Amino acid sequence: MSLIVQKFGGTSVANTERLKNVARIVTDTKKKGNQVVVVVSAQGDTTDEFEMKAKELNENPSSREMDVLLSSGEQISMALLAMAIEKLGFPVISLTGWQAGFKTKSDHCNARIKKIDTSRLEHELNSNKIVIVAGFQGIDKYDDITTLGRGGSDTSAVAIAAALNADLCQIYTDVDGVYTADPRLVKNAVKLEEISFDEMLELATLGAQVLHNRSVEMAKKYNVNLEVLSSLTNTSGTKVKEKVTMEKLLIRGVTKDDDTSRIALLNVPDRPGFAYQIFALMSKYNINVDIIVQSIGRSDMKDISFTVPMKDMELAQKILTERKDSIGIGDVIATDSVSKVSIVGAGMQTNPGVAAKMFEALYSVGININMISTSEIKISVLVDKKDSVRAVNVIHEAFFE
Ligand code: ASP
Ligand code: MG
Repeated sequence: MSLIVQKFGGTSVANTERLKNVARIVTDTKKKGNQVVVVVSAQGDTTDEFEMKAKELNENPSSREMDVLLSSGEQISMALLAMAIEKLGFPVISLTGWQAGFKTKSDHCNARIKKIDTSRLEHELNSNKIVIVAGFQGIDKYDDITTLGRGGSDTSAVAIAAALNADLCQIYTDVDGVYTADPRLVKNAVKLEEISFDEMLELATLGAQVLHNRSVEMAKKYNVNLEVLSSLTNTSGTKVKEKVTMEKLLIRGVTKDDDTSRIALLNVPDRPGFAYQIFALMSKYNINVDIIVQSIGRSDMKDISFTVPMKDMELAQKILTERKDSIGIGDVIATDSVSKVSIVGAGMQTNPGVAAKMFEALYSVGININMISTSEIKISVLVDKKDSVRAVNVIHEAFFE
């Protein structure tokens, strides 16, 4: 007998038909003699709609009350799915995040899981029930409801799989796996049979919308056997694991992230201490800096550019502009009409020429590269936002077609 955790995203539980479909998948798994824990997201766009409703009343609601609101979407899904499964004649129980033992920190709307007290889950599984758990939520030390950050149900599922030492954690979504590029942008994107945790983590962080990146981090840490597949088709998905066979692929995927902006600081004196002052300031205001590029100094000045998430652009520009005279730097120029396009793959560690191939593809269609950053298994470039879809396509073509 195996223990399987199955997570169903918003699209998979969006309406009555879809819920019946999920009930069939779950009960088929149970029928085969497995223990099953099911984690559900809110139906369809419920969470977005809740956010909009809140904003109609208060542009800046407290994050505690946001969590009370947002967590209710998953509670609807879990009850409806339990009813659909009851109807098929199987013993079932639905549990909220806190009933299922999710203890989190108190950072509302983006809470970290501290631990899962699995006693209730185990009790229900031992009474032969299918257990449905509301994803994306938990409770903090003050007994207040918390949520794990948008897309956090994946992390709930992986956390349960890790805590119960499950044999498999299946993430059912509306795409049937992880692709070499977003199939909505790239016609010839192909599904990957498997991908390593490290590659998946880079892809998830660099804009691929398949898995919540914290769920991948956690799967890697606890070596959870993870699979991404579709609830709407009956095909095999993508396995995410520690080691994958290397095939002949130089890279595993191409992705883009539009949620970025660039700050350029002109005429920064070419002396020790300026970079420190600038980035200490960013860190003080909790602004996450990503790619940093510094030009070679002309006479005794240089320029420094860096990227920050779009939501932090105005703040970064404001605090630097206010202090440019006291720090002693020139103009501060910000733009959000940029995108980060990345390639990811463990193959690039052992194969020279991967960067050249990527840059050649961009050059061949006249796309200018603003910034470059690399790590062991990824290369990112910053391009104009208007070029980003074309960039993903030509790079994909260069490596996969
Ligand atoms: N319902 C939440 C969201 O839309 C959590 C999730 O779907 O994973 O962000
Ligand atoms: Mg969702």
